[in-house]
Amino acid sequence: MGFLNSVLCGLFVSTRSGYPLRNAGFTAHHYSPSFAAMSRSLPVMEAFHTLQGEGLFTGRSAYFIRLAGCDVGCSWCDVKESWDASKHPHLTVDTIVEEALKYPARIAVVTGGEPLMHDLGPLTAALREAGFRTHIETSGTHPLSGDWHHICFSPKKFKAALSEIYPAAHELKVIVVNKHDLQWAEEHAAKVTAECHLFLQPEWDKRDAIMPMVVERVLAEPRWKVSLQTHKYMNIP
Ligand code: SF4
Repeated sequence: MGFLNSVLCGLFVSTRSGYPLRNAGFTAHHYSPSFAAMSRSLPVMEAFHTLQGEGLFTGRSAYFIRLAGCDVGCSWCDVKESWDASKHPHLTVDTIVEEALKYPARIAVVTGGEPLMHDLGPLTAALREAGFRTHIETSGTHPLSGDWHHICFSPKKFKAALSEIYPAAHELKVIVVNKHDLQWAEEHAAKVTAECHLFLQPEWDKRDAIMPMVVERVLAEPRWKVSLQTHKYMNIP
């Protein structure tokens, strides 16, 4: 049985470890997919309902759509299985939104991988039509597409971001792996708008060593806030 058939039989289960989401099948709703939504497909590694663990919307109920495909190559990446898009099923935008509507969250967070490797116009149009806020988490290394309520820009040292992401970002989230990253974060902060929320987030595996310098920097530079991967503390996806 193909993946799409599995979806239609109600077997679309989050692949993120340890979180037993299982749908009972499609439910009735008022979303009427446009032709564009039905005709576009995207590689989906996993989709799941959880709490946003990081950044400005920490603690909010949100539906995550993790698209496959990434050419950034972060050494500490914790979703390396997302890199090769050919290893994941392509789902129509309509199917993706139908799945999202099964859960009460109305924040849809599109993440990856690097989601901007794909044209996200049809997906965001369909999500908005269905009543979702559209959020994205991106490294900014590919052209911006889609219509977003919230853009979280998380630059990576492994591939430079495009200049167009800086004026568009609502949130700058810098993963801190070492002390140099604090200076690197300032270089990015100088390019975003004054309204952009600034976050320093200790890399998970080095959090014990990194936390003191992050706390010290935020105490000294109140423009910044600390972001923690709270979902990992809560043991949820
Ligand atoms: S950009 Fe994200 S998905 Fe891609 S390698 Fe870096 S952490 Fe992993």
